[in-house]
Amino acid sequence: MKIVAITGAGQGIGRALAWHFAEAGYGVSFIDPDNEAGREVLAGIGARKAQGLFQRGDVAKPKDISGWMARTVKELGVPDVLINNAGIVIRKDVLKLTPAEFQKVINTNLGGAFFASQAAARVMAKRGEGGAIINIASTRAFMSEPDTEGYTASKGGIVALTHGLAISLAPYRIRVNAISPGWIEVSDWKKSSQAVKPKHSRADRAQHPVGRVGTPQDIAEACQFLAEKAGFMTGQNITIDGGMSVKMIYAE
Ligand code: NAD
Repeated sequence: MKIVAITGAGQGIGRALAWHFAEAGYGVSFIDPDNEAGREVLAGIGARKAQGLFQRGDVAKPKDISGWMARTVKELGVPDVLINNAGIVIRKDVLKLTPAEFQKVINTNLGGAFFASQAAARVMAKRGEGGAIINIASTRAFMSEPDTEGYTASKGGIVALTHGLAISLAPYRIRVNAISPGWIEVSDWKKSSQAVKPKHSRADRAQHPVGRVGTPQDIAEACQFLAEKAGFMTGQNITIDGGMSVKMIYAE
């Protein structure tokens, strides 16, 4: 049985990743601070006849990550794949953002991806059979909305971290790649108590060259490709945004 370890799989894209890989026959281990969301995801993994492990924890805390990885190895086995998906955003006037707020976003999004990669790489290297790490970045690594500097910087950092780790981990046959999603509608992938309606309109769909907003499945399929097929790819970023970031926009 192949094992995938996913951060932030309680809701949203991570939830879809957990269930997608469970359907593909993987054992799925994940870390998330949300107990209610985590239990729902674990039940969904079981319903797909796959083995699951849920660790309640915070990827901004390296100790939580090392505890999760140790438990994963003990109860499921060494991960073949790590997906660094956990991410938060704080939207606040750039002139008012506090050091603690900026650092929280960086420590969660970028620090979490590094320390989870390090923990997974240690056990993958020890086993000696290689592995794959997939970092979920964002098109915000390359373009911006106002007042989201921490998020944007963390995502740019993840793209750079991806090629850094790809070089350092190549001797262990661990490939490291990133996916930069554009607008992904996650409303169908929220916990029961937090059901939200899709926020997109006809105009939102039309602004994407492919004519729709993205889905978590779009990201899950690309993750499976990077995990299983992309043997000659490492250190790369794949943008999955329906063409939004390559569309020229003129004011008139
Ligand atoms: P979401 O908010 O729906 O889900 C995030 C999950 O991460 C939740 O289960 C949450 O509990 C968990 N999480 C939050 N803080 C955590 C922490 N400290 N430790 C562990 N888990 C934590 O988010 P989403 O939209 O599914 O986004 C998932 C990833 O995809 C993020 O990295 C995000 O930046 C990226 N992304 C999303 C979109 C989009 O349009 N949805 C676009 C580009 C990139």
